[in-house]
Amino acid sequence: MKVRYSYLPQQFADPDPILEEIRSVVMKGDFTLGARVEEFEEKFADLIGTRYAVGVNSGTDALMLSLKALGVGHGDEVITAANTFIATVGAINALGARPVFVDVTPYYTMDVSQVASAITPRTKAVVPVHYTGEPVDMRPLIDVCEQHDLPIVEDACQSILAEYEGKRAGTFGEAAGFSLHPLKNLNVWGDSGMIVTDSVDHARMLRLIRNHGMKSRDEIEILGYNSRLDTVQAVVGNALVDQVPDITASRIENASVYDAAFSSLEGIQLPPRRENVRQVYHLYVVYAQNRDELHTHLLENGVSAKIHYPIPLFLQEGLSHLGYKPGDFPETERQAGSIITLPVDQHLEPAQLHRVIEVVEAFYAR
Ligand SMILES: *Cc1c(COP(=O)(O)O)cnc(C)c1O
Repeated sequence: MKVRYSYLPQQFADPDPILEEIRSVVMKGDFTLGARVEEFEEKFADLIGTRYAVGVNSGTDALMLSLKALGVGHGDEVITAANTFIATVGAINALGARPVFVDVTPYYTMDVSQVASAITPRTKAVVPVHYTGEPVDMRPLIDVCEQHDLPIVEDACQSILAEYEGKRAGTFGEAAGFSLHPLKNLNVWGDSGMIVTDSVDHARMLRLIRNHGMKSRDEIEILGYNSRLDTVQAVVGNALVDQVPDITASRIENASVYDAAFSSLEGIQLPPRRENVRQVYHLYVVYAQNRDELHTHLLENGVSAKIHYPIPLFLQEGLSHLGYKPGDFPETERQAGSIITLPVDQHLEPAQLHRVIEVVEAFYAR
């Protein structure tokens, strides 16, 4: 039995209604922005519970434009977690700003107790990453950011419908970025992203800068970018957005099956499972003894396990100019050597989950 990491063909097993709708977009030549993008923005804002959503062309741009709209630019510093996908850092870097890392907790998200000591006179914003689907400790983070008058832009790319103390990820900061990349929990047929905010001024600014800063066809209010959400992708998003609660529930259910089996298995250690959050399992990540051997064993037995990620960002060649060195973020570094990601896709059947458990158990029984 093979257990794949994702099941995109199943996700779009019946593409005809979407293709029909795209046909009408094509017949009308309605390719940029327009009613379908607005409809998707409204549905997305309703889903998260914010006043506004602004569609852009990727999760990376969602973060980059949100920071830009807050005035982040050349020479500024932006604090984020040492353990994230490279796009968080890329978004900060694209504005000429400098990413400043803080180490992470055993549940993989920013250790907010370390933020205060990372603040300097150049700090302009903080980007907490709700990584793996696990929300950051927002209450203490908001406290420290309020004390220093720093805006928060949440990287919620992996955490649609996650909650912290009963409140949705994406509703804590000045703005939040979501990704609709094919591997994310809400996925379209290519790249797209969404920014949510409650601020009317921020939403207006974001609508300007995603579309060249054009106030109208003839008037440029500020310099912006071409970062519109494709109308074709909005059609896909509209077809899928109502399924996000079910997708989320299935992934949480799958994770609970794994948790029940692994909590008593020597060799696997679960991260702390916190009472005050809803973790939505974009990634199901655990600590494993002999991680690399287990990874090989899983792959050899048809289970598409992955490692997110074996080399921490701060030790990557492409980030060497930031001047970080081994030992700077010990928890992130320790995790990189022992984490493993097991398939948790919403399409997995109970038999497949049990196959994964069986293969892991067999490895440690040797
Ligand atoms: C996917 C992701 C992004 C970027 O999203 P794209 O749509 O691929 O640009 C940013 N941050 C995190 C944590 C992500 O997982």
